[in-house]
Amino acid sequence: MSSRLAEAQRIVIKIGSALLVDQESGALRRPWLDAMADDIAACRARGQEVVVVSSGAIALGRRQLGLAPGPLRLEESQAAAATGQIRLAHAWQGALARHDLTVAQILLTLDDTESRRRYLNARSTLGTLLRLGAVPVINENDTVATSEIRYGDNDRLAARVAEMASADVLVLLSDVDGLYTADPGRDPNARRLETVHGITAEIEAMAGAPLSAVGSGGMTTKIAAARVALAAGCHMAIASGRIDHPLAAVEAGAGCTWFVPNATPRTARKLWIGGTLKPLGSVTVDHGALKALARGSSLLPAGIIAIEGQFERGDAVLLRGPDGVELGRGLIAYSTDDARLIMGHRSQDIERILGYRGRDEMIHRDDMALNRNPADAPDA
Ligand code: GLU
Repeated sequence: MSSRLAEAQRIVIKIGSALLVDQESGALRRPWLDAMADDIAACRARGQEVVVVSSGAIALGRRQLGLAPGPLRLEESQAAAATGQIRLAHAWQGALARHDLTVAQILLTLDDTESRRRYLNARSTLGTLLRLGAVPVINENDTVATSEIRYGDNDRLAARVAEMASADVLVLLSDVDGLYTADPGRDPNARRLETVHGITAEIEAMAGAPLSAVGSGGMTTKIAAARVALAAGCHMAIASGRIDHPLAAVEAGAGCTWFVPNATPRTARKLWIGGTLKPLGSVTVDHGALKALARGSSLLPAGIIAIEGQFERGDAVLLRGPDGVELGRGLIAYSTDDARLIMGHRSQDIERILGYRGRDEMIHRDDMALNRNPADAPDA
């Protein structure tokens, strides 16, 4: 399994507060961060894309604001996050600049990942940043998130980010080096699992109470993260960050637990689009577009001859061939009204017609699941 990391194209690394921030003094653990940045630079140097989900804002900010040890009230942790996030982003920027890597900060709320429209926006920004060679450093936007609408732990946030980015590997680095059959602190027979295929009730039962004092996650949130990652076709590792160069260590075979999906991110996404979403409308394509779809292209506004239903940007719609027969489903990049205005027009005219420059594609090929080959359609 250790080669999974070396072979991945897009890696999300979640870094827990306890690794970045000294538990006693509340100071940033700079040498550790620098070593982590070396590992990230090594991944980038061999052509891998890396997204960092970094905790530590609250832990850093509370020291700065002189807040007393112990649990914080919501307003206090929000104030601490507001102060600490600047330091955290700055620390990452400095550490990665040593390798000439550009950092991009993204602060997400639960809404950004749960509402489809915002999810698509965040997904495309993330894709653009990666294409431009930046290393996105992501955290929850703790300052505005209230208790009902926040993740509260970066394990689950990282899994949603991995899903959103169609990452093939997610590594959760914290002070635990994997999932154990029982609490290793109490049970001498506890043994670390090497690989997990699927989240069963037995696996869930192995996740006990949170282990770390500084971060908010425990094994429970890591298992919840694994569930999301596996459904997205993403491999996930729980590995120890207690050592310097933890990614290099995982590659060299350091003990950890790998969660193994039974699909790839691409097939998992296609299944999700094809199966679980309720279509709110339909678009009918012309013969030219049908041919283009058969070649694996995206659907452009120019190739659309009819639109039905009421949908918003990001909603699922049915795709129909010129004969009206269903071809599959896709997530549409425009609302009904805007889609109607630009259908039949060239993509370079979108801005003139709508007054803003939206996507060139009505449905991007990555947002489409076809249930029959358009080449088999009559007249294709
Ligand atoms: N978002 C929180 C922070 O940056 C951390 C959440 C967690 O510990 O998982 O401080």
